[in-house]
Amino acid sequence: MRIYNTLTRKLEEFHPMDEQEVRMYSCGPTVYGYAHIGNLRAYLFMDTLRRTLKYNGYSLKHVMNITDVGHLVSDADDGEDKMLKAARIEKKDPLEIAEFYMDAFLQDIDKLNIDKPEIIARATEHIDCMEKYVQKIIQNGFTYETQNTIYFDTSKLDKYGVLSNRNIEEQKAGARVEFDSEKKNISDFALWIKAPENHLMKWDTFWGKCYPGWHLECSAMSHHYLGEQFDIHTGGIDHIPIHHENEIAQSKGFSGKIPANYWMHVDFLTIDGGKMSKSLNNLYTLQDLSDKGYEPLVYRMFNFASNYRNKINFTWDTMDSSKVALNRLREGYWKHVNGTENVSDEVLQDFEKRFLDAINDDLNMPVAMSVVWEVIKSPVKSQKLKDLLLKFDEVLGFDLAHYEPEAEELPEEILELVKQRDEARQNKDWAESDRIRDILIEKGYQVKDTKEGTVLNQ
Ligand code: AMP
Ligand code: ZN
Repeated sequence: MRIYNTLTRKLEEFHPMDEQEVRMYSCGPTVYGYAHIGNLRAYLFMDTLRRTLKYNGYSLKHVMNITDVGHLVSDADDGEDKMLKAARIEKKDPLEIAEFYMDAFLQDIDKLNIDKPEIIARATEHIDCMEKYVQKIIQNGFTYETQNTIYFDTSKLDKYGVLSNRNIEEQKAGARVEFDSEKKNISDFALWIKAPENHLMKWDTFWGKCYPGWHLECSAMSHHYLGEQFDIHTGGIDHIPIHHENEIAQSKGFSGKIPANYWMHVDFLTIDGGKMSKSLNNLYTLQDLSDKGYEPLVYRMFNFASNYRNKINFTWDTMDSSKVALNRLREGYWKHVNGTENVSDEVLQDFEKRFLDAINDDLNMPVAMSVVWEVIKSPVKSQKLKDLLLKFDEVLGFDLAHYEPEAEELPEEILELVKQRDEARQNKDWAESDRIRDILIEKGYQVKDTKEGTVLNQ
């Protein structure tokens, strides 16, 4: 498999540390509102990666966090906590908010048939783990204290900004506002924060009543479940310049190591060419799509039109063509279900090879789908092609194995004949029953007698 590694800015051959098991970590959602379909693109990418790794024979130990504390309105250290803000607006307890939107998120990913990580870890259930982690960073000399905050001192690192390749001076120059804070360096960030008296989420810790900075949970939990170093770390491209740089900084402060060998980032779903986001109020949820008549798997199909490293622009026209494509896929699959024709092994192997080459080329789904369309269009109807599509579906995730076309509504005239025939049979009028049966056969139906009455197959 070849994957693009943000850390080296190269397409690289993938070599996990363990030959059989891939260990990976994905930054999960902040559960303070419904996920929008932009967020869900990030988890569809995560799903395709999981499925592709499994298709290649690896087993997975994959952790995804749920942020239910500490994520401020900006990714840097400004603004209110997102959870507390939602709690204030909805007049609810922050944990109630978290519970509600976490469930909603898990339902959304089920509806999209996203293969869930082996471990889903909530930040608020790992405060101890974060406390131990931060204490070690302190011991190692990478922090300083102000009155209310323990900061990570990024000037203590050999280099800060290994992913985005920016140095502290460049960050200063790029900062929108004059750098004016209690931080020593513009890229320093909060690890552990003293909670004000009326703060709703706080814990008794080594530094009094505190709550953690957002970046800490991912470092502490990935270390807890996956160890100092693991294979792949995923997230959205917005994580590159701050969140993931800070995770790397924390990990270097903790163990001296960069935690993951491969860093993979999914680009944005855009709308009218701009980012879809809660703050710009231009977002759609999965429910909005359903309300407009697009089932969730249509949105899965929509995403396969583009590689995860490219932006994809949301339009209703593209949703319409994705809907048509999903129907074509299902109908094409169904055509092969009862197929009796033969397909040679060479043809099957050629399809398989080209599909595998595509997904192993940094998850190139548009090319993988072009192979699927060739199988669908094949004039030969064969169960071997059905089996092949089911195999491809391990990666595609359209749940073809459970697909059955909906029974077509019978025309009024036919329903009337069935009714008359059932009445004739009840009256033991066998001549009339046979007469109607012959009419039905002539009209192209197979007629079966069951306890429930006449049943037709086309
Ligand atoms: P959040 O819940 O805000 O932490 O975001 C959850 C995930 O969605 C992160 O991986 C973000 O990078 C990703 N994300 C946010 N907006 C978009 C978007 N418009 N397109 C794709 N991914 C996004
Ligand atoms: Zn993270």
